[in-house]
This record gives sequence, C-alpha cells and structure tokens, in this order.
Amino acid sequence: MMNIKRHVIAATAGVSAILMALTGCGGSKAATDSNGKPLVKIAIITPAATQSVKKMKWTKQLEAACDCTIQWQQIGNDAWSQQKNAALAAGDVADITVWGYNKSDFAKNPLFEDLSDDLDKMPNAKKYFKEDAYAKKFATDLQGRIFQIPSSVYERNTALVGGQTMMINKTWLDKLGLQVPKTWDELEQVLKAFKEKDPNGNGKQDEIPFDINALGTTGIGWWSPFLLLNGTGISTQVSQIGGQGLYVKNGKVKDFLTTSNFREVIEYYNKLISEGLVPADALTKASDKYTAEMQNDGKTARVGVAFGWNTSAFGSGLEDQYVTMLAPTAPGAKTTWESEQPDVYNGAAVAKDSPYKEQAFKIINKWLDPDVSMESYYGDKGTYLVKNGTNDYSVKPAAFKDSSVNVSLADRGLTWMRPGVKLHGVTDVDLSNKEWAIYKDVQPKADSKDTMPSYVTMNDTDQNDVSNRNTPIFAYALPQIANWMQKGGLNDSTWKAYVDKLNSLGLQDNVKTWQKWYDKYTK
Ligand code: MG
Repeated sequence: MMNIKRHVIAATAGVSAILMALTGCGGSKAATDSNGKPLVKIAIITPAATQSVKKMKWTKQLEAACDCTIQWQQIGNDAWSQQKNAALAAGDVADITVWGYNKSDFAKNPLFEDLSDDLDKMPNAKKYFKEDAYAKKFATDLQGRIFQIPSSVYERNTALVGGQTMMINKTWLDKLGLQVPKTWDELEQVLKAFKEKDPNGNGKQDEIPFDINALGTTGIGWWSPFLLLNGTGISTQVSQIGGQGLYVKNGKVKDFLTTSNFREVIEYYNKLISEGLVPADALTKASDKYTAEMQNDGKTARVGVAFGWNTSAFGSGLEDQYVTMLAPTAPGAKTTWESEQPDVYNGAAVAKDSPYKEQAFKIINKWLDPDVSMESYYGDKGTYLVKNGTNDYSVKPAAFKDSSVNVSLADRGLTWMRPGVKLHGVTDVDLSNKEWAIYKDVQPKADSKDTMPSYVTMNDTDQNDVSNRNTPIFAYALPQIANWMQKGGLNDSTWKAYVDKLNSLGLQDNVKTWQKWYDKYTK
C-alpha cells in the first residue's frame, strides 16, 4: 500500500519537473522589485487561522536588515503536504523556507545550502549554536553539514516534560484529611477513600477515583496509563520512542513492553479495576468522553486522578481543585518521569542555488535577534508584545482577543527563545511552568544517557522497517494488554507467550535499529 502511494507521488513529481523545466520556473532567477532591490522569496507554512504575514509589522525589520524586499509565500498546511514532495522533486524551493523541511528531506534532496561555513555571516546563529548545544545537534547531520537553522523555544522552562502530567484532586484530599500519595499502596488507599467517602459532596457515589485513557490501536500514546511506568524507574517518552514501547537507559535502547516493570503496571491496574477504582470501561472509552468526565458540569468534580497536559484539562470551573503529582513509586523502586524534551524543531533552510544567499543570511540573522524572535512567535511589539527588560516579555490580552485568529507565526516562524526567558500574560505557559516544576528533579536531563534525543533520525529504509514491524506488534499487544488489565489472566505462561510473540514480530530488531541510530548521533 505504502509503496504504491510513493510510486504515484514520484510519477507526479516527474511531470512537475518537466513542466518546471519548460516554463523556467526554477528558483535561481534573480528577481528584483520596482526599485531594483533584490526580491527574496520566503516560504512559510501556516495553519488556516494564521493572519496574513503581510499584516505583521515586525517583518519590516527583516527587510531593513537585508536591504531587500521579501516576497512571502504563505502556504496552508494541507496545500503544503500536497505540494512538498513534488516541489522538491522539481527542485523548486524558495530562497528561504521556514518549518517546511526536515532532516530526511535534506538527506534526499541536494537543494539546500550547507550553512556550516556561513555562520560567520550570521553572528546570532553562531552564538545560538554555541549556547544551545541541543539545537546545534538538531541542525547538524552525520557528515557535519547544517542544512537549517532550527527554532528553539524555552517558554516552558521549569521542566521540559513534553506535556505529560499526572494530576490529583487536592480539594478532595484536603476534605478527607489525606496527603498526595507517594507509593502504589498509598495511591490505592486514597482511591478507595475517593470511591467510598463522597468527596465531591453531592450525596452520590459518582466519583471516578482514577480515570485513564483508552490504549489506542497503534502504540503507547499521549497521556497513556503507562506513564505509571515512571514509578517503577523506567523513564518514558510517550510522545517519542516510548510510543513504540521503547526507552533509553544508560545509553542502551531497550523495550519496556517485555519488562517485569510493565507486567507489574498491568497487574496493578488489574487490581485497581477489579476494586472499582479505575472504571472497567476506561480502556474502550473515547477520548472526548475522558475529557468530558474530567470537566463534568464545571461545578462538581467527578475525577480524582488523571493524566493530561496540565490542570487546564479539567476546565476553568474545576482546574483550581487539582495539583500535579509525581508518579507514585512501585514497591522497591525509585520514581522518575518523562525525560527532558527541548522544544527544538525545524526552522530556516536556504536554497543552494538562490541568487540571494547573502540577503538570506542577513534575514535569518535578524530573525534570531532576541526581540524579533519573540515578535515572530507572539506578535508585533506594542500591539501584542511588551518588552519589560532583558529576556523578559509580556504578551498583551489583545494577542488572544479573537481565538479564531493567530496574530503571529508562533511555531511556524523562526525563533530562538533564550533560556530562562521570563514571559508574562500567557496563561497556559504560566500554568505549565508552575505545575511541571515538580518533575524537574526526577526527570532525566536532555543531555543524559537516559533519553532518546529528538535529533536522532533514521534513514528512510530503517524508518519504514521499524514502522512495518510496529503495526503487527501493537495490533497484537494492545488488545492483549487491555484484556489483562480488565480481566486478569496474566501469569508466567501467558506472559511468556506474549513476550515470545512480540519478539517474533521483530521487537528486538526495532531495539537494534534504534540503537544503531542513537549511537551514530550520540558518539
Ligand atoms: Mg459524589
């Protein structure tokens, strides 16, 4: 199926290439504006809600820096996903493209300027890579080439947990005279009290002591019940390789699906479900129902413990009742949490055959200026953004006045947010910084040997092989796991059959493949 689709794209791309050649629409023509100034094309890819970049005044600073006119090509998400491969095959790339291309595009298409020897022309980029080792690694391929200047965003700077949070109803705990549970036994006792003692005070036993998400069908997803693995000492990265049932410990890639830790978590959930402390229907529940239960009617809380982004998941009526908590510790273990995951992502790439590379460097350099980076992310200074001091900014309510309009480029622009940035006025950032801080001391650091960095990228062949093995692995494993959680039946012989089956489907081959690429990028 996948191969057929790829073939069709390749054929389409071929036609486009011929058309491009015939009409001479390549990117190398040195266009000028009516005053004879260079006309530099910048492609940006934005969601439909993003207002026209032409209305964003901060972009004038880029034009002043390059003494050129910028011709913006603002492309919608859907249009981009349809045209990207054809444009690459045709060699038709803008002078600068921001966010649109990734490491695997750079590896396959020799269309981009290697910026590694151009950093002297971009002092801000040079400084950036000196101060932000992670961003530099993200930017650099295995041959030492740099095909893009990525963005790096430190707005949530107390703990980089990738949005995975465990939360508990503190109002209920206080009412019952209980503490935040620190161990599996304590959690079980607290959940029993939540179930039996009507902590929401409505005279009904309608409390859901611990609400968990369904397991899904393709892997271990966001806000997975298996975040409890962190209480057994395995640091998960559910939005990354944890999604494939893998983790990194001391530089070694391993799978957690066949560990005794994973088995213990399944058995623990089975106990909680059998005691009515986790709803029996949780594992087949639609995610909108999970959210609806967390928010209930906005007045009476029903959920005691849950996983989510931060307490805003409980809605404005109930969020104040909740606090974040560490993963309770399994017997004999030490708790950890999702490893640090720096928010570094694809940024600016320059066309190799651009007639305006010098101007492009000046534009990129200016875009990495502290204030311009923040304006690109949050909006024009004065109207939307206020600078309070060095690395200290406030976003005005005007920026959020119309929730259907993005006034800035946000993550689709180029931004180097300096570490430790103080940011005021963004409710969700304030909340995350307050609530995620508790994970800081227990989570593995981004530069430790207990995490898979996001800059580790496989080649296409290996990526396809891993993905092709994951399909049957999770098609088999997830229903089996759900069944054990709900109904029990997990014993040494059923466990052995499960482990053997996963290994026969290539789980250890996936471990080896990830190890190979981890080693290439980290050694
Ligand atoms: Mg009640």
